[in-house]
Amino acid sequence: MAAYEIHDHTYDVVVVGAGGAGLRATLGMAEQGLRTACVTKVFPTRSHTVAAQGGIAASLGNMGPDNWQWHMYDTVKGSDWLGDMDAMEYLAREAPKAVYELEHYGVPFSRTEDGRIYQRPFGGHTTEFGEGPPVQRTCAAADRTGHAILHTLYGQSLKQKAEFYIEYFAIDLIMTEDGACQGVLAWKLDDGTLHRFNAKMVVLATGGYGRAYFSATSAHTCTGDGGGMVARAGLPLQDMEFVQFHPTGIYGAGCLITEGARGEGGYLTNSEGERFMERYAPTYKDLASRDVVSRCMTIEIREGRGVGPLKDHIYLHLDHLPPETLAERLPGISESARIFAGVDVTKEPIPVLPTVHYNMGGIPTNYWGEALNPVEGDPDRTVPGLMAVGEAGCASVHGANRLGSNSLIDLVVFGRAAALRAREVVDPKEPNRPLNQASVEKALDRFDRLRHANGAIPTAELRLKMQRSMQNNAAVFRDEPTLRQGCAEMTQIRKEFADVRVTDRSLIWNSDLMETLELDNLMPNALATVFSAEARHESRGAHAREDYPERDDVNWRKHTIARVSYEGKVELDYRPVHTEPLTPPELGGIDPAKIAPKARVY
Ligand SMILES: Cc1cc2nc3c(=O)[nH]c(=O)nc-3n(C[C@H](O)[C@H](O)[C@H](O)COP(=O)(O)OP(=O)(O)OC[C@H]3O[C@@H](n4cnc5c(N)ncnc54)[C@H](O)[C@@H]3O)c2cc1C
Repeated sequence: MAAYEIHDHTYDVVVVGAGGAGLRATLGMAEQGLRTACVTKVFPTRSHTVAAQGGIAASLGNMGPDNWQWHMYDTVKGSDWLGDMDAMEYLAREAPKAVYELEHYGVPFSRTEDGRIYQRPFGGHTTEFGEGPPVQRTCAAADRTGHAILHTLYGQSLKQKAEFYIEYFAIDLIMTEDGACQGVLAWKLDDGTLHRFNAKMVVLATGGYGRAYFSATSAHTCTGDGGGMVARAGLPLQDMEFVQFHPTGIYGAGCLITEGARGEGGYLTNSEGERFMERYAPTYKDLASRDVVSRCMTIEIREGRGVGPLKDHIYLHLDHLPPETLAERLPGISESARIFAGVDVTKEPIPVLPTVHYNMGGIPTNYWGEALNPVEGDPDRTVPGLMAVGEAGCASVHGANRLGSNSLIDLVVFGRAAALRAREVVDPKEPNRPLNQASVEKALDRFDRLRHANGAIPTAELRLKMQRSMQNNAAVFRDEPTLRQGCAEMTQIRKEFADVRVTDRSLIWNSDLMETLELDNLMPNALATVFSAEARHESRGAHAREDYPERDDVNWRKHTIARVSYEGKVELDYRPVHTEPLTPPELGGIDPAKIAPKARVY
């Protein structure tokens, strides 16, 4: 192997990722007095969180009655009863605190007339345990909420003296012989040096893997690197079959039009000019949850009522709304529609199509963010030294389907929870253990092998093949033949990776090598997704099987656990859903009858 210049760093905590989750964890860890480093492949404020538009859910009740129990109920129902009750209670209860904390850190929220945080309606958010009208729960900074949050959290992290390693690509986890995590190996993109980080706690906050698909709203950097690292460390991924399609990606471009557009009064029509959602979801109409709206749109198109020359998309109308509302509340998406669809939203509808948007699955964790590695008899066994937060993790608060604006709140609530937990389990006075050299060598070997990969298939070609296969075979509607085909194709594509070609051998700004590392990370995520989907013989949330149209709580109310070998073999197992909330009803917890499984209608 060629000689590499290697530098060593020692910390209490290393956070990988500087999106909303990574920054909130970094800030919290530093506040606790833990020596904290944040390693990120892109500049912090370029993380995908910056693109979040619509807002962040919390039952502040600024625009009418609301409370945490209604928020919890909506999240449970949104998850199609696959989420863990303890984590969902924690999310809903802590949400208002977390939002006020953001306000005090300096997030410039939009305001009501009397100066309180402005809140808008979002899909699946209701009052009276789903019996009452939609609620205005989503706190917003116009349609640039993620941008506002990310910039504020970055400023606050710097203030707390967290140390940033920017444009460092984390290659692999460093694991002890007995399966604990003790650091990461990273590549400094601008000078080609390698860096060994020794840490008592590693927090993966690497975001989602939307780029496993052909058409996604997520940034090109959303390549599931955390999931890839975890799989290579022999650890599992959870509930990967649940991939959220957002109803309103711009047709052709894939960029997102926030659900906040429907929250502000926008609606969908088919080729007959019909507001078809009234037919499918009589109560909440265009504000039914995302999986439901995406399926209805797909059915309309399949039945020949799509719009455009190919009848292959749907219209989103905002043209009936006052231009002042659009300018004040939705300026960003008005601009996106002009640039990417050539549409003036005050006059014409926007062409839209369901587009991959969010990964409900990820690295399994408890509600403190501690990563899990279930074994027979202990489904909640933790991995010492490893946490995961944000879209990379699976706590699981979103279960089979995430409600809009519940991700941003997940980032800050669980980023903060991870820091609170780290204070208990990390001792700043204890010395760091020496790194397991065998684990470092293994990571270096893979890096070196890919750098010199001299096969026949360029990375971009293989990536496109994977993206097309996932788009075709693990889509909004699924059945046995397509999923089988997906499993076979992905297995084959994974094999072909052994024949990948990297043309640039340098170590400085080598985007060819970086994209190859990212593809190597995307593949285990994609494999876990399609194999888990093939095995789940029911329909739940975002996983809609045409051959098994009903939800089956007796056999399938359980989390899928997928272990993916480097060669692409997928082993599946299951762990129970946590059905008990944190607080019993006599101490002010939610009434168990309210959250018992029932049919999910909007
Ligand atoms: C267009 C869009 C709009 C959205 N709007 C909303 C909304 O209004 N409300 C809502 O609740 N949710 C929304 N979501 C979802 C939500 O924004 C995301 O789920 C969330 O921002 C993910 O945050 P994160 O911190 O987990 O990861 P990200 O923000 O994706 O950050 C990942 C971080 O990990 C780093 N990283 C990754 N791999 C490596 C590596 N190998 N080495 C070093 N660093 C690495 C990156 O540099 C980055 O800093 C939206 C999503 C999209 C795509």
